[in-house]
Amino acid sequence: MPVISDYHMHTPLCGHAEGEPFEYVEQAIKTGLAEMGFSDHAPFIKGPLPGVTMTREELPLYIQLIEDVQKRYKDKITVKISLEADFLAGYENKISQMLKEYPFDYVIGSVHFIGEWAFDDPAARVGWDQNDVNRVYREYYRLLRESAYSRLFDIIGHCDLVKKFGHRPTEDLTEEVRKTADVFKKTGMTIEINTSGLRKPVKEMYPSLENLKIYRVAGVPLTFGSDAHLPGDVGKNFDKAIALAKNAGYTEYVTFKNRKIEKIIKL
Ligand code: ZN
Ligand code: FE
Ligand code: FE
Ligand code: ZN
Repeated sequence: MPVISDYHMHTPLCGHAEGEPFEYVEQAIKTGLAEMGFSDHAPFIKGPLPGVTMTREELPLYIQLIEDVQKRYKDKITVKISLEADFLAGYENKISQMLKEYPFDYVIGSVHFIGEWAFDDPAARVGWDQNDVNRVYREYYRLLRESAYSRLFDIIGHCDLVKKFGHRPTEDLTEEVRKTADVFKKTGMTIEINTSGLRKPVKEMYPSLENLKIYRVAGVPLTFGSDAHLPGDVGKNFDKAIALAKNAGYTEYVTFKNRKIEKIIKL
């Protein structure tokens, strides 16, 4: 297995992850990762969201916690500092201000909300019975494009999360994905292969092989993320992720520093 970086993992500050940051780092070292990055859920910009994201007041503590492990493990593994921030249309300026407060290595932008609806929240699954599945998918891809155009982020998180519970569109949405891939390329976005989908009802990684091929053809760079909310999930199923990347025709992945692509690494 080539040496890979895991760029997507959480800390207990978000309220729904377990284990101390050092346990995530030790797992990464054990797994043989080249590099890792913490990307915990950024403070929710509309106000506190207990159990989902850290608060605005906790952000300095988060930075402190990650800087601590960064120093403590610097001879063993590179630890990058990031956030996974929600894209919320209309709040771009506030999100931008927050992301400028600290020198992040990269920021993952995620669409978890369609309007007020947290479509990937098990507690909000009833929304799937109230909305047309094709419209939900189209709106999801439209928001992905809007999040890229906002230029707030470096990496777009789990870029077909909308499939999480296994709902499938009945229309062919290839054109939506193609349009989205072109916008990602044009706006300089990178995507991730996120292995957490394997642990969800859909039982497949984000994005699917079919979609990943479209991003590869468009020339969108790639990172890898486990989206671990438990130390034991760091680097999990990365053998499958690498196989998926290669199947889609990817021959390299990228690392980030100071919010720019730092290195391009052969797969
Ligand atoms: Zn989470
Ligand atoms: Fe997410
Ligand atoms: Fe995440
Ligand atoms: Zn995520």
